[in-house]
Amino acid sequence: MISRHPRLLTPGPLALAPEVKASMQNDLGSRDISFRQVTRDTRQWIQELAHAGPDYSTIPMQGSGTFVIEAALTTFLKDSDKVLVCANGVYGETAAKILRRHRLGHVVLTRPITEPVSVEEVAARLAADPQITHLYFVHCETTSGILNPLPDLLALARSRGVTSIVDSMSAFGAIEIDAARHPFDILISSGNKCVEAPPGIAFAIVRRAMLTPELTVARTYTLDLYDQWRGFEENGEWRSTPPTHVAQALRAGLMALRQETVAGRHARYAAIRDRLIAGLRPLGFSPILRPEVQTPICVAFRNDTVVPDALAFADYYQHLRNARLLIYARFHEASRSFRIGCIGQIEPGWVDELVEATRAFVSARRQPGGGAGLARRAAAGPEQRP
Ligand SMILES: *Cc1c(COP(=O)(O)O)cnc(C)c1O
Repeated sequence: MISRHPRLLTPGPLALAPEVKASMQNDLGSRDISFRQVTRDTRQWIQELAHAGPDYSTIPMQGSGTFVIEAALTTFLKDSDKVLVCANGVYGETAAKILRRHRLGHVVLTRPITEPVSVEEVAARLAADPQITHLYFVHCETTSGILNPLPDLLALARSRGVTSIVDSMSAFGAIEIDAARHPFDILISSGNKCVEAPPGIAFAIVRRAMLTPELTVARTYTLDLYDQWRGFEENGEWRSTPPTHVAQALRAGLMALRQETVAGRHARYAAIRDRLIAGLRPLGFSPILRPEVQTPICVAFRNDTVVPDALAFADYYQHLRNARLLIYARFHEASRSFRIGCIGQIEPGWVDELVEATRAFVSARRQPGGGAGLARRAAAGPEQRP
């Protein structure tokens, strides 16, 4: 059991501002005018943050980000369509899994997780395969924190007459998105990343021209984005019960974001990222990305001496947890890295605490035979190693 409040240094869910948490105290009726106002503000403010004009519409939906990715892929793709999925991390691969599950046409273009999606490679694929109708890519791939080249990929899709679907889950709110300068067809994000709201609602910003019965083929009832949108347009209501408290917190998070601005939030997160890297680097932890492609969303660190594998990482995680600091709990085997989030209401002092706790962990490891994990591995014997 964790005593008192843990400090989240995770790329969502994240530490929330007190006023966002306080906004969840009101019980609202889901079909009451007060709640319809919450929904209206939320949709409008999301759209304004993306600089998306009246040719776009914003569709919130219950669930985490993946729900709306599945909703978009199963609402807007026809059986004859084929998606080129760019994958340089787990989230690109998730989209491919969803397409496979629904037996929808797709092809995957894989890149190493330390390399951005290559516009040249995508162009070559599109040129070689005229069957491709859609381009899917992740804006910031949270596996590594890498930035993919959104403006160039969108321009390419447009020039080839291919529909673009962007997973901007972890970027929206901290990395500028400008639908006027870089028009997309569908862009997906959720409240619990850089909008700094609790998990429970995600949303798609969709080109309005796509919202017709002819251009949509929903394959499920609950994830039918077109039907969800019709409800909002016709009576301002969600089809089935919305998470009313979370919706109010999403509105509060968006209000705070409007005040801070996307540029302000980007700068705040970048300062956390830089403090984190500056503190951990002398201890032997290096970001796996080169600085030009490293976003301020999260940093994937690697230290082959102190945290060489999942077992050592489990010890490190527990050590930080004992200091009530929570980082992302998974070790990425292929790149031998783990992630620390820079988003949310992280105070600079938390980063300093994390650096100090890490310093203590490193020096314990450097003792001869030091560290519980080393002892455990010696006891388990080599055949039981992962
Ligand atoms: C968080 C995230 C998602 C969605 O994950 P959920 O667990 O469903 O919230 C999708 N793509 C990216 C890039 C993300 O960072």
